[in-house]
Amino acid sequence: MKKLIFATHNQNKVQEVKAVFEDYSIASLADLGYHQDIAETENTFVGNALLKARHVFEVFKTPVFADDSGLEVTALNGAPGVYSARYAGEEKNHDKNNAKLLVELASESSRAAQFKTVIAYKDATTEMTFEGIVNGFISEKPTGSGGFGYDPLFIPEGYDKTFAALPNEVKLRLSHRSRAVAKLYRYLKSLT
Ligand code: IMP
Repeated sequence: MKKLIFATHNQNKVQEVKAVFEDYSIASLADLGYHQDIAETENTFVGNALLKARHVFEVFKTPVFADDSGLEVTALNGAPGVYSARYAGEEKNHDKNNAKLLVELASESSRAAQFKTVIAYKDATTEMTFEGIVNGFISEKPTGSGGFGYDPLFIPEGYDKTFAALPNEVKLRLSHRSRAVAKLYRYLKSLT
């Protein structure tokens, strides 16, 4: 089986990715005993995903991919965007982030938003990025107990419930991350 590192500490993401990459041996940073946090110092998703992939490739010299994602709200000119995790402060509190988003949107007529993921892949000869997007709307109040982050506020297009209230399979099928991961998988398959 081909070896691939997924440069993340997030075990939920690792499970999601392993479901797609059945015929690869995926190692997370925890599997490799690498517990350092890689600071996301760039101000774009592409920049941060590439930074993480390059950093981990330098350490392990093994093909690697890394992701960066967030919520972009049209009426807020794309905020919270790359700062999604720390929207309401450095403590990265999901409830506070959601509360702040509702306040910021209170006087806006459009509630359109998208989740976006960028995946950066790196091996000895190639660097590539892949984008996944899911369009939707920000609800008036949080509902549902599934998922994480902005899921209790995000209603995907074509549905009337938030990601946190919909069955997990629906989020897995539609999500920005699944879409970006599927593109990476198709790319790697096209090489073989
Ligand atoms: P990360 O770069 O994937 O770790 O995401 C950064 C931040 O974006 C998270 O802390 C969440 O606030 C938000 N986010 C990213 N993906 C999702 C998602 O699938 N649901 C809800 N929030 C998300």
